[in-house]
Amino acid sequence: IKIEKEEKTKDFSDYKNVWVFGEQREGDLNSVVHELVGQGRRLANKLKENLSVILPGYQNIAQAKELINYGVDKVYLIDKKELAEYNDEYYTYVMAELIKKYNPSIVLMGATTIGRSLGPRVAARIKTGLTADCTSLDIDDKSKILLQTRPAFGGNIMATIVCKNHRPQMATVRPGVMKAAEKRENYEGIISKEDLDLSKVILKTEVIDIVREIEDSINIAEADIIVSGGRGVGSGENFNLIRELADTLGGAVGASRAAVDSGWISHDHQVGQTGTTVAPRIYIACGISGAVQHLVGMKSSDIIIAINKDPGASIFNYATYGLVGDLFKIIPLLIEQLKSG
Ligand code: FAD
Repeated sequence: IKIEKEEKTKDFSDYKNVWVFGEQREGDLNSVVHELVGQGRRLANKLKENLSVILPGYQNIAQAKELINYGVDKVYLIDKKELAEYNDEYYTYVMAELIKKYNPSIVLMGATTIGRSLGPRVAARIKTGLTADCTSLDIDDKSKILLQTRPAFGGNIMATIVCKNHRPQMATVRPGVMKAAEKRENYEGIISKEDLDLSKVILKTEVIDIVREIEDSINIAEADIIVSGGRGVGSGENFNLIRELADTLGGAVGASRAAVDSGWISHDHQVGQTGTTVAPRIYIACGISGAVQHLVGMKSSDIIIAINKDPGASIFNYATYGLVGDLFKIIPLLIEQLKSG
């Protein structure tokens, strides 16, 4: 379906170029940035415009240089101590000020915890629209408008949304769904150092401490092998079996929403429509029925192995290999085999 936010089209010839928000943590770019750079390049080529990354951070010149090596035409570098860690007020100010100064036609961010917080704030500040959680983006050949596609109505349909009467066109994009940019040696890009006076920003929040989650800190979006548990696992304690299989395979632990909502494991592990989209080499679904909202987040995995005691479970329709039986019998056997082999 096509939802049109506005009726008439205005003249936006002053707005040009595709921008990507360069999300980083402790000096490391989030992998979604490379995916957005890959997608941003395709969009910029179609529009015959440039691709830029807006990079707030601290002592982040190395990241700027890295981005140029991935085919970015211009990096707007804002290097300030206050921007070392993500902060809603500072980052919203930086993004909004630079967007107002340079008028990009498209601004993309990852639909990460940070992007989901920052995107709506920036859109509200500069009075434009935002399509959250897109899974595909394209340019309409005739109008040159950004076509922003995302699941709607519980993932049962895909909606393509356009922003006709405001600029820039802003979208957050799910990590793991776009192809990452490839390295382009000797690419010639520009690093533009931007100086903004952050003393004007009124802080409403103060970071007192950053507490790291020691256990399970792996990012499932980047894992090569994922072992996921669902309602069939039965309890938080039983998740140790899922962890053991994941550890044996050197993989990460995922979960269905039913397991997360039951409080057996934290939301960072949730795979699916309201969790993380993953596409590992191997995805092992244990005690997961295969609801559409779960499938949408993992069906691009190379190999799907399902363990379920119900032979009619819909996960088997998507599985490369299906094991019908009790996960509490099958998983210990698998672990034993793997350890002895
Ligand atoms: P169930 O559907 O209850 O399936 C449990 C399975 O375990 C069954 O197939 C059963 O046969 C099997 N089983 C039980 N015991 C054993 C055993 N001993 N051995 C082997 N198999 C066993 N869900 C997500 O996962 N991710 C999302 O992001 C998500 N987002 C949603 C967003 C919206 C708007 C809505 C409405 C729903 C969303 N859901 C999401 C929920 C989704 O609809 C399902 O309810 C959920 O995925 C079911 O989780 P499950 O497969 O673990 O549980």
